[in-house]
Amino acid sequence: MFFTFILSLIVAAILLWVILRKFHQSRRNNLFQTPLPPDSVAILKRNVSLYSRLPPDLRDELHGRINIFLDEKEFTGLAGLTITDEIRVTIAGTACLLLLKRDKRCFPGFTTILIYPDTYVAKAVKYDGPVEAHEDSIRSGESWHRGPVVLSWQDVLRGTSNQSDGHNVVLHEFAHKLDEENEIMDGLPVLRDSSHYAEWAEVLNREYESFQIRVNRNSNSVIDAYGAESPSEFFAVATESFFEKSLQMKQKLPDLYQQFKTFYNLDPAEWRDNSH
Ligand SMILES: [Zn+2]
Repeated sequence: MFFTFILSLIVAAILLWVILRKFHQSRRNNLFQTPLPPDSVAILKRNVSLYSRLPPDLRDELHGRINIFLDEKEFTGLAGLTITDEIRVTIAGTACLLLLKRDKRCFPGFTTILIYPDTYVAKAVKYDGPVEAHEDSIRSGESWHRGPVVLSWQDVLRGTSNQSDGHNVVLHEFAHKLDEENEIMDGLPVLRDSSHYAEWAEVLNREYESFQIRVNRNSNSVIDAYGAESPSEFFAVATESFFEKSLQMKQKLPDLYQQFKTFYNLDPAEWRDNSH
């Protein structure tokens, strides 16, 4: 009798999980098909400069993904900032560029996005041998492991309005979110095809080493020197360059470009300005 009761509970739990999953998938599919309101499209045209280069089919896909993102993520303003549609759509429209041509999951594992009006000060812990020191660190954004993304709105705008300087804090922090999908933020995200891991590791390790040499010689140009901090930062800043300096990256770092092209399933070096 007891075992029958336990078995019934397990079956009921599995059924509930299947029903909730179906409901969730159907909700996502509906949101994906729903047109983006004209006011939101106007915000993308005004603030997200990469949007002007997107081919029409990717624009349509981006609209659907923005609907899902806005349904699943929660925005909270800090230091007196009021969250507006402009803030929500600009951030969603930039973050979702990383999800194009992928499955319909939307940065799983966290829901909250905290927005400061401008750069903010956070306490950073520095170690000098056994000595631990706390110091103020001025930040434009950060991504907490399995926790919120934090962004400065002014830095978001600076990054999204210029599509060719290789600096985009939204692409950077959400690249970290892709990187941590396998629980560890180490520059090795979940790859679509398991046969790709060996090639990814070989090319990324080689490119990271030669990048560090170029940074030490002050001769790096395509990828921001901050990437020399760690493989995970290299992945995040290389993602910024892949979207914003795609032609230079393809020309100067073709092996790295090819790996990112395969990972993101996109070829931004082929995108042309469609705004005229
Ligand atoms: Zn970072």
